[in-house]
Amino acid sequence: MQILARCPKCDAGLPLRAADVPAAIKCGRCGTEMPLEITPAVRADTAVDRCPVCLGSDFYIRKDFDPTLGVAIVVAGALVSAVFYWFRHDFIAYGILAAAALTDLVVYGRLKDLTVCYRCHSEFRGAYPRTAAAFDLHTADELEQEYERRIGRR
Ligand SMILES: [Zn+2]
Ligand SMILES: [Zn+2]
Repeated sequence: MQILARCPKCDAGLPLRAADVPAAIKCGRCGTEMPLEITPAVRADTAVDRCPVCLGSDFYIRKDFDPTLGVAIVVAGALVSAVFYWFRHDFIAYGILAAAALTDLVVYGRLKDLTVCYRCHSEFRGAYPRTAAAFDLHTADELEQEYERRIGRR
């Protein structure tokens, strides 16, 4: 399992391999010491049961999607179709626009889910079965506030 641990101080993402996570890491950006408690399930890539950073056990899943990639596909499609439109090949222009939108959908549908910790936003990628539910704004609000109070950010 790959973990992207979030520094509680500065929110920097620190990539880790669950199989050889040390007992603590130091944030490369702000120097904060972060103790890590990996559960056996996380280490073995069988489940995300507890977050090693904030020790919370509330997670949601979302598509592992880089939004800039999606935008790039659509923008590229729009540019190419504008050229055809300019030369009055409307049909081809619309076809390319539709193809770009479709490519976006296909890319999106193929992506694997990743698990995210509600509290500290650490991310988990691996072969383990996804059991968490989709993102819930209400839960996020509550848990984030609780976490931020706990680490003294508010
Ligand atoms: Zn930091
Ligand atoms: Zn967490």
